[in-house]
Amino acid sequence: MNENDLLQHVYAANDGLPAGVLIPPGDDLGAIRFGDDTLLVGVDQLIGGVHFDPVTAGPEQIGRKAVTRNLSDVAAMAALPVAAVAAVALPREADPAWTRRLFDATRLTAADYGCPLVGGDIAVADGPLALTVTVWARPAGVAPVTRGGGQPGDRIYVSGTLGNSLPTGHHLDFEPRVGLARTLAADPQRRPRAMMDLSDGLAQDLPRMVSHAEITAAALPVRRAPAVKDDRLPPWRHAVGDGEDYELLLIVPPDVDYPAHIDGVPLTRIGRVTDIGGVVVCTPEGTRHHLNGFGWEHRGGER
Ligand SMILES: [Mg+2]
Repeated sequence: MNENDLLQHVYAANDGLPAGVLIPPGDDLGAIRFGDDTLLVGVDQLIGGVHFDPVTAGPEQIGRKAVTRNLSDVAAMAALPVAAVAAVALPREADPAWTRRLFDATRLTAADYGCPLVGGDIAVADGPLALTVTVWARPAGVAPVTRGGGQPGDRIYVSGTLGNSLPTGHHLDFEPRVGLARTLAADPQRRPRAMMDLSDGLAQDLPRMVSHAEITAAALPVRRAPAVKDDRLPPWRHAVGDGEDYELLLIVPPDVDYPAHIDGVPLTRIGRVTDIGGVVVCTPEGTRHHLNGFGWEHRGGER
């Protein structure tokens, strides 16, 4: 069983949820009715050896990423972060000074984004460090944008650049696109029809939004990386398959045209939603590759 199969099992229970659930499992955040307001919530875990290299990543980078991964999901809904809680499982050998730096980084990053850390839990365990952060958010005047709703003919955009997130260190120091997402979603002329953040790579994530789409390989904004020995993959393969981009993947109506930059963030049109043929990438040589299968699966392996 792979991660997508497990998710389908989870989503199969969505029909039984109470009416107060506004956005069920299957989106970047869930949402519930909360009095007259909407409360969005999401959780992400960061595990040593899976989401960061415990030998090379410092406590400041780990603490920051635990929060910014969640904030990238908040951005994907065009929501405004409100508060966070954190749970940590510390390896028995964890150094106290190192651990204090980890906690400080988690708290300070959350505070920087207007999302104070208001509680948590500490455990000591045999095993790698695991830091789990839950973030609440609210619409604050901008209706949440979900993953669904893309129509054939719609344009597909991404923010920033894609691929090579590990060799460039991007996977630890990315900027969650909260401001950009809210700017676009608040503007009726530019509001995306659907949106998510790219965490597992375009090949894994785009099929979670639409069943059929065509991506133009030559249009993909590939993140530049130091030359890697024996890298035989064309650049577009990195852009679709590496993962950990934490950029916005946007689907907009055919008449919406984004400029090359908004508030200093690059926006690139990479393809369109279609009505047949699955999710494919078209190379300059004229080859069509099915994207399903190029992305990253979280289960197993170092990343
Ligand atoms: Mg997400």
